[in-house]
Amino acid sequence: MPYRAPVDDYTFLFEHVVDLAQVTATDRFEEATPDMTSAILTEAGKLCEDIMAPLQRPGDLHPAHLENGVVRTSPGYAEGYKAISEGGWVGMAADPEYGGMGLPVTVTSAVNEMMSAACLSLQLAPLMSQGQIEALEHHASDAIKELYLPKLISGEWTGTMNLTEPQAGSDVGALTSKAEDNGDGTYSISGQKIYISWGDNDFTDNVCHLVLARLPGAPAGTKGISLFLVPRNIPDENGNAGVANTLKVVSLEHKMGLHGSPTCVMQYDSAKGWMVGAEGGGMAAMFTMMNNARLGVGGQGVGAAEGAYQHALGYALERKQGKTAGPSGTIVDHADVRRMLMAMKADIFAARAIGLSCAVAIDMTTATGDAEWLSRAALLTPIAKAFGTDVGIDVANQGVQVHGGMGFVEETGAAQFSRDVRVTAIYEGTNGIQAMDLVARKMMDGGEAANRLLDEIQSTTETARASHPKMAEAVWQASESLREATDWLVEQDDLQQRFAGAVPYLRAFARVLGGYVHLRAAMADVGGAREKLARFYIQRLLPEHVGLLKQAQVGADDLYALSVDELAA
Ligand SMILES: Cc1cc2nc3c(=O)[nH]c(=O)nc-3n(C[C@H](O)[C@H](O)[C@H](O)COP(=O)(O)OP(=O)(O)OC[C@H]3O[C@@H](n4cnc5c(N)ncnc54)[C@H](O)[C@@H]3O)c2cc1C
Repeated sequence: MPYRAPVDDYTFLFEHVVDLAQVTATDRFEEATPDMTSAILTEAGKLCEDIMAPLQRPGDLHPAHLENGVVRTSPGYAEGYKAISEGGWVGMAADPEYGGMGLPVTVTSAVNEMMSAACLSLQLAPLMSQGQIEALEHHASDAIKELYLPKLISGEWTGTMNLTEPQAGSDVGALTSKAEDNGDGTYSISGQKIYISWGDNDFTDNVCHLVLARLPGAPAGTKGISLFLVPRNIPDENGNAGVANTLKVVSLEHKMGLHGSPTCVMQYDSAKGWMVGAEGGGMAAMFTMMNNARLGVGGQGVGAAEGAYQHALGYALERKQGKTAGPSGTIVDHADVRRMLMAMKADIFAARAIGLSCAVAIDMTTATGDAEWLSRAALLTPIAKAFGTDVGIDVANQGVQVHGGMGFVEETGAAQFSRDVRVTAIYEGTNGIQAMDLVARKMMDGGEAANRLLDEIQSTTETARASHPKMAEAVWQASESLREATDWLVEQDDLQQRFAGAVPYLRAFARVLGGYVHLRAAMADVGGAREKLARFYIQRLLPEHVGLLKQAQVGADDLYALSVDELAA
C-alpha cells in the first residue's frame, strides 16, 4: 500500500488537541496562519508520498557502503536529498536571518514525522542537520553563524553529532577525544568517534561535525567537555568547501536495519576545528542539539508506526482467510486483527499528540521565555522520545503479526519497518536513560511541573464529564493514580529507588497523557471516528497504567534479590 501522508490528522490535532492557535497568537509565530500551515503540510506530504517513500525499499536492499574511503549512498538517495533541501525542508524551523523559514517546531515536527514514515534512513540526514543548526544558532560565534548557517539551512552542507566513543556511550562524561588550542582561534581535534549517523555522504559539498572533546587539563566527567565544529572540508576565503580536513570514515557499521543511513566510525587526526560555546560548556551546547534530536527521534518512532500501520491495513484489506465476521471476506474483519489495527491506530494518535504537545511547549518557550512552558517542555521531552519510539517498535511488530507469514518475508516490507525503527529506542539516549531523566532531573522541582500538567488534565476531565462521563471518569482516576505515584517518587531521596521504577513510571505517564489527548479528541468529534477511537483507547489501553504504577512504586530491592552468580546459574 503506498504511503499516504496523514495531513488531516495533524490539522485536527493542531486545532482541537494541542492548541497550535496559542503558538500562532504570539508575535514570534504570527505568520504561521492555518492556511500557511495547511499548505506546508500538503506540500510536504507530496514530497513524502512521491519522492521519499519510493526510496524506503532501495535503501534497505542496497545499503550505504564505503568505497576507497568514500561513503556511497543508496540508489536514489542523492536525488531524494536534493528534493528535501531544494524544498527548504532542512531549514524549516531555522532563523530567517540565515535563510530559514522560522516555522514553529510544532509544524516542523509534523513534517519530520511524515518524512520518517516515508523513508526513515534518509530522513535522519536532515534531522541531524536541524539539530546542528539549532545548536549553532544558540551557541556559536557570529563568524561561525555567518559562514555555516546559510549552507546548513539550505542543505548544501549537512551536519552530524559526535558524542559516542567505544568506552563512552550512555556515559558521555567518559569520552577521551582531545582538543589542542592552536593559538590562532582554531583547535586540533584527535580521537575516534563511533556510530556517527550520516558521518559522510556523496551528495553534499561538505559535512560539518559537532564533536565533543577535552582540552588539556580539563576536569574529568562532563564538566571538562567542550564542543567543536569540525568540517570535512575547511571553508576557503569565499566560504566554499575548501581543502580536506584531517579526518576520515574508517568503516561503516553493519546493522539490523536503517541500512540507507551510513553509521560511521570516524577518525580525527589533529583535524582543524572551532570551539562552539564556552570552554567546558560542551555538554550544555550539545544539549540544545540533543533535545531537538530527542523530540525528532520520538517523531521518527511515530512516523515509522504510521508507515507500518498503513502497510498492515493495506494487507488486511486484501488477504482472504477463514470465515470472517464482517462482509469484506478479508482478515480485516477478524476480531483479533481488528484488535491489533485498533491498538496500532489508537497508540499512534496518542504518541503523535504527546510529541506535538511537547513541540507546542518548546514553541511557547521560544515565543514567551516563560519558565512554566520551559519546564513543561523539559518534562515532556523524555516522554515524547521514549513513548514515541516504543510505540514505533510495538506498532511495527504488530504490523508483522497482521501480515502473518508474509510479515516475516522481506518482500512485503513489514519486517523492514520493524528492523529500521528498533534503534530509535537506543540512540539519542536509550529509553531507560530517558526514564531516569524523567524521575530524577525532571523531578528536581519536587514534581511541580508534573502536578501542574495533572491539574490541567483534571480540569479538562471535569468539563468532559457532561458529554463523556465514563471516559472522563476513567481519565480522572488514572491521573489521580499518577499524581499519587509522582508524590511517592519525589519522596524517595535515594535515586536508586526511583530508577528501579523509572521505565514503568514513564510509560504510565504516557498512558495517562494518551487518555487525556484522546478525551480531547472525543469532545471535538462527538459521534465521529475520533470519539470511537478514544473510547477504544480509554477502555483497552489506558488500564495498563494500573500495573505500571504498581511496579513504579516497588523500589529497587527485588531487582537485586538475585546475586550476579545467581543470575548466571
Ligand atoms: C544506528 C546508530 C546510530 C547512532 N548515531 C549516533 C550519532 O549520530 N552520534 C552519536 O554520538 N552517537 C550515535 N549513536 C550512539 C548511541 O547514541 C548509543 O548507542 C547510545 O547512547 C547507547 O550507548 P551504548 O551503545 O554505548 O550503550 P551502553 O551505554 O553501553 O548501554 C547498554 C545498556 O545499559 C544501559 N545503561 C547504561 N548506562 C546506564 C545507567 N547509568 N543506568 C541505567 N542503565 C544504563 C543502557 O540503557 C543500555 O540498555 C548511534 C547508535 C546507533 C546504533
